[in-house]
Amino acid sequence: MNILVINCGSSSLKYQLINSDSEAVLAKGLCERIGIDGSRITYQPEGGEKIVKESPMPTHTQAIQLVLEALTDSTTGVIKSLDEVGAVGHRVVHGGEAFTSSTRITEETIAAIEACNDLAPLHNPANLIGIRACQELMPNTPMVAVFDTAFHQTMPEKAYLYGLPYEYYEKYKVRRYGFHGTSHSYVSKRAAEFLGKPYDNLKTIVCHLGNGSSISAVKNGESVDTSMGLTPLEGLVMGTRSGDIDPGVMQFLMHKENMDIDEMLNVLNKKSGVYGMSGVSSDFRDIENAANEGNKRAETALESFVYRVAKYVGAYAAAMGGVDAIAFTAGVGENDKITRKKVCDYLGFLGITIDDEANAKRGEEIVISTPDSKVSVLVIPTNEELAIARETLALV
Ligand code: AMP
Repeated sequence: MNILVINCGSSSLKYQLINSDSEAVLAKGLCERIGIDGSRITYQPEGGEKIVKESPMPTHTQAIQLVLEALTDSTTGVIKSLDEVGAVGHRVVHGGEAFTSSTRITEETIAAIEACNDLAPLHNPANLIGIRACQELMPNTPMVAVFDTAFHQTMPEKAYLYGLPYEYYEKYKVRRYGFHGTSHSYVSKRAAEFLGKPYDNLKTIVCHLGNGSSISAVKNGESVDTSMGLTPLEGLVMGTRSGDIDPGVMQFLMHKENMDIDEMLNVLNKKSGVYGMSGVSSDFRDIENAANEGNKRAETALESFVYRVAKYVGAYAAAMGGVDAIAFTAGVGENDKITRKKVCDYLGFLGITIDDEANAKRGEEIVISTPDSKVSVLVIPTNEELAIARETLALV
């Protein structure tokens, strides 16, 4: 069966058409600037050239219409008609406490996702627009919602409750939810498979280090803690997000800089992290180049990033009563050997030693620790689209 995987944001939409038998990506691409001037669609069939076309997309429905036209195009398309799309899998950011796993999309599901909009006002409404647009264009195709939060719903209360008055949890469900769940689930499972160890008897720490970064503690196949919280702002220092700060900083800065709460959150989400610290870029490659040229702030930003990752790894080893495997994934985790090495340099106390030659390889699943290392350290490229396609297949 061919499964269309849709990741719909407020003004962009990523898609992949995946054959669930071979797990090959038949085509993939991106619609950008939906609802804004200068919108364009990128389309790349398997083994073919990338095609970029400027095309008006006033709404998400038009964007998805263009995706479907590209997939069925008589010369560059990969399917003859939409009948060859057996199901659609939608990434949905926030499933609150309502969704502990992926689910078939019905009117009740949509209402339950809408009820989580408050928790992810930037993401969930956009995800729902994508779902509605696909339903309009493919009314008879089964659809599945795969949630970023679902994998972390196994966390115990002690991990997900904040030290706040309990009534806020009761009234508004204010708690840690965690994100990147599809990636943490996929990578922790692959790490166990790759090591030939039972998933349900393994303590793994997954370091998903990208532009947005989060860490999870996965014990016996279940997420028991993760660094992101009610929103993706908590935890590690990220590309542009601050991660953990003293909440008192906000009041202090709002007074000093005459900011309202929205402006403050904009600073914490978009102007902070390694970007804000270095003043260079949110891209680790740029910051590393600047550090190599002697830029002190760039150097400190990278050191803070690594330090925070190592602190969380230490904390999660304590939370699980030990750790068998540490898996690096996402843009930085998969590609940046220096960051991996620096994180592991902190972890010598766990008996970790890194094989520099293995650590220098890229683009493959690999163990980068030495055979005598007490903890296996791996790089596992994440594949959220494939994980969504697998979840979708399982439900249709
Ligand atoms: P992601 O959010 O997972 O797509 O990760 C994107 C980030 O990965 C980029 O912003 C870069 O900072 C980082 N990245 C990608 N390639 C490299 C590389 N070769 N070295 C260091 N960082 C990289």
